[in-house]
Amino acid sequence: MIDSIKHHVSDDLLMAYSTGNLPEAFSIAVATHVSMCDICRSTLESFNAVGGALLENNSTVAMSDNAFARTLDKIKSMPVVPDKPTKIQSDLPAPLTDYIGRSLAQINWQPIGMGVKQSILTTSTEATARLLYIPPGTEVPDHSHDGIEMTLVLDGAFADENEYFAKGDIEIADGSTNHTPVATDGRPCICLAVTEAPLKFRKVFHRLIQPLMRI
Ligand code: ZN
Ligand code: ZN
Repeated sequence: MIDSIKHHVSDDLLMAYSTGNLPEAFSIAVATHVSMCDICRSTLESFNAVGGALLENNSTVAMSDNAFARTLDKIKSMPVVPDKPTKIQSDLPAPLTDYIGRSLAQINWQPIGMGVKQSILTTSTEATARLLYIPPGTEVPDHSHDGIEMTLVLDGAFADENEYFAKGDIEIADGSTNHTPVATDGRPCICLAVTEAPLKFRKVFHRLIQPLMRI
């Protein structure tokens, strides 16, 4: 656990995660942050408990024939936050290592220009999760967002115009956010970035190369 975390997952996103209503790519980011953060873990546990209590209270209500099977299916499909350390020795948090099945040193990075590298995770298609490697002092091109963007710092730190994000911090940006994140502290920043929709790059050049970068 990291005590210095200042930027957390919002309650509505934790609730959506608890009820299994987040796209897979966002669930990975939430599970990874929760594995690093005591505050969000305890909030999530209380949401999970409320969900369980609601299920119990409803047990006397007449249910359709397949309600039990449907509930079981729903429980099985709910995201799980592993408590035990993963078998793979890794410098990444357990939920992420479990998901990608490898450690940071084994990532196949794809260069996307200016020294920035990415590795796209295999998930369902409503949202895209990627690992990003940003060299020190390098900025992610200035962009705004069509949908939600989550950026979880795994190593190093980044800053945008207003705020500073260190290991374990998660930035939740939306259509109203227009920012230029820069890797700070003189070291590379490695983060997990999840986007709901393609980023809207403001400069024509970036828009032209966007399909190539798959950002
Ligand atoms: Zn948190
Ligand atoms: Zn952004």
